[in-house]
Amino acid sequence: MKKEKILVVGNWKMNPETANKAKEIFRGIKAETKDLKNTKIVVCPPFVYLSDLEKMNDGSVILGAQDMFWEKSGPFTGEISAQMLEKEGYVILGHSERRGLGETDEMVSKKVISAIKAHLHPILCLGEKIRDEHGEYLHFLRNQIINSLGKLPKTYLSKLVIAYEPIWAIGQAEAMKPADIHETSLFIKKVLAEIYKQKTILSIPVLYGGSVSADNAKEIITLGEVQGLLVGRESLAPKKFGELLKAVEIL
Ligand code: PEP
Repeated sequence: MKKEKILVVGNWKMNPETANKAKEIFRGIKAETKDLKNTKIVVCPPFVYLSDLEKMNDGSVILGAQDMFWEKSGPFTGEISAQMLEKEGYVILGHSERRGLGETDEMVSKKVISAIKAHLHPILCLGEKIRDEHGEYLHFLRNQIINSLGKLPKTYLSKLVIAYEPIWAIGQAEAMKPADIHETSLFIKKVLAEIYKQKTILSIPVLYGGSVSADNAKEIITLGEVQGLLVGRESLAPKKFGELLKAVEIL
């Protein structure tokens, strides 16, 4: 059976401040990644830089988006639709920073469904704010999974990617422990299995995000048993991102 590539997604968030800087970072990432064969690399810059970076791209890196709206077109000032993005591309949805600005599970579920209808791969972000001793976070996660998928039909599952990003582990000095990542990714798959009652859920990639670096990437993949990584800060530093990708590549 063909081994699936590890999926590493870089989320640039609202960085960098200029198009020239974005091009410089992207050039650096391409130079670092040109010989990689076992890793699928997706970089999600701010929308306004997408077309400039696309012109520089030779296909070694996939360009993705950080958000989109669920309607195709119309009076939705400031939004962009799934149809405006490259078909078969990736789009991050329901990132905790967007949820923090008021995005609800219901809004996220509409976005996930629209993205798949428009032939995109949504990267659905999930994650608890805090980990309590009594396991309340598991109830929170279960509800977040169920409500963020909403009425997503079974037939859409092959396009779905899940990114587990515990909010408390984002932007920190250390990531979550690999054993806990493993346990939580199994929990997510268990909830998906309960909802969809299908073996195919096992092939939905679950990524981990939250303070991933070149130092911890390998053990997060091997011991955490996730199928990829969602990387924030380190994806803006080509050398560090390159080291992270090389650590994952030789697994
Ligand atoms: C993120 O916010 O998606 C993220 C993973 O950030 P960082 O890698 O900087 O913790």
